[in-house]
Amino acid sequence: MKLILLGAPGAGKGTQAEIICDRLHIPAISTGNIIREALKNGTEMGLKAKSYMEEGKLVPDDVVIGIIKERLAQDDCRNGFILDGFPRTVPQAQALDAMGIEIDRVIDIEVADEAIEKRMGGRRVCEKCGASYHVEVKPPKQEGVCDRCGGGLVIRKDDQPETVRDRLAVYHQQTEPLKDYYAETGKLKIVVGQQELEETTKLTLAALEA
Ligand code: AMP
Repeated sequence: MKLILLGAPGAGKGTQAEIICDRLHIPAISTGNIIREALKNGTEMGLKAKSYMEEGKLVPDDVVIGIIKERLAQDDCRNGFILDGFPRTVPQAQALDAMGIEIDRVIDIEVADEAIEKRMGGRRVCEKCGASYHVEVKPPKQEGVCDRCGGGLVIRKDDQPETVRDRLAVYHQQTEPLKDYYAETGKLKIVVGQQELEETTKLTLAALEA
């Protein structure tokens, strides 16, 4: 299964990607997590991406396409993968096509901007493995500690309300057109994000099987 999760920042892509990853035993690949890791390690790519990310802008296509090419060439992607946060522009989607990768399904998780702005204040991520949590909707078993790897949970710098608004504007302008791009292939399924996480998961899994 080669799957793309589309949706605004904070729509729940990362959380659903983790759930599908556990079920289908295919890696969930988040370009955001890869970039954050590079930033933490101070690599050249991380330094290039830093200012874009912190301002809520998209990292240039060539950088992100390079990241994804390298990642998809790894052995664990042979039986499929879940892309969370890639592609985010039409040129990125075209680059994926040009790699000869046949995507099986594209799931778009839709949540209204106002709901996203409210949600983002409660979001926490593991600084070690990137797993995502929410203080109310998806709390960790132990406060401040990642269930998966024991890493510390932090608030992302780009989850500040102002940056969230900028990221949503970027989403509508640059990423939303991908809905039409994939609707034309007949592979697009829309999931309306629900208040309850489990409900969104049910709909997402149903969209996978449909
Ligand atoms: P995310 O964790 O998916 O919300 O991504 C966080 C930030 O990483 C974004 O706001 C962008 O600055 C950058 N980023 C992640 N994925 C991409 C992508 N496919 N294209 C461009 N920038 C990206």
